[in-house]
Amino acid sequence: MSSIADKLQLVRQRIENASQSAARSAESVMLLAVSKTKPAALLREAAAAGVTRFGENYLQEALDKIAALEDLPQLEWHFIGPIQSNKTRDISAHFDWVHSVDRAKVARRLSEQRPEHLSPLNICIQVNLDGEESKSGIAPEAVAELADTIVALPGLRLRGLMAIPDPDNSPEQQHLAFRRLAQLLAQLQQQHPLQPQLDTLSMGMSGDLEIAIAEGATLVRVGSALFGPRGK
Ligand SMILES: *Cc1c(COP(=O)(O)O)cnc(C)c1O
Repeated sequence: MSSIADKLQLVRQRIENASQSAARSAESVMLLAVSKTKPAALLREAAAAGVTRFGENYLQEALDKIAALEDLPQLEWHFIGPIQSNKTRDISAHFDWVHSVDRAKVARRLSEQRPEHLSPLNICIQVNLDGEESKSGIAPEAVAELADTIVALPGLRLRGLMAIPDPDNSPEQQHLAFRRLAQLLAQLQQQHPLQPQLDTLSMGMSGDLEIAIAEGATLVRVGSALFGPRGK
């Protein structure tokens, strides 16, 4: 079995190749290491190999790991799972980014509960590109209104959009889904010209990061290609 450092190098190479094919610089794509279900010791290994951003889906598990890795202040923590509104206080206090905001109530709570000594919480709106089938994410038509709400909240900084397209998509459908998200971000940028940090397209995972980068991803969320399969 190869080490985390080896897998990290492979993933970085994939990002570099995909960026080159898309005539983009590899620095324009951030790597988020998705570490759900993986123990803190493995995250520590990844951090030693150069990973600085971790994505977590389950709050309690994440809080335990954040505490266990407290001695590594360079780490950035991203919450990427579904959000119940009774969990917003801990999310807002312990994370740097939230990628899965899909309703105004959650946004308002995250803003109100952001501790004053911290900079505004970076937010991506999660968009449901596939209609009924998947439960998380807001409909594309409703993104503009939620964006207006978030931009007005002092504890938050709207950074962009996130999506998890249907895993059964063909490569062609996957291109179209990611392209749609990129178009939605372009519309938001026009709508909010005074938000220079509205720059993030959080899309692409272990299986489709090349397609996502071809369509403009600025942040890929990679789990199994770095940490191995999650079992179950
Ligand atoms: C688990 C997860 C990922 C990573 O998926 P892999 O296929 O293991 O790379 C990315 N994004 C979200 C929202 C996830 O829940």
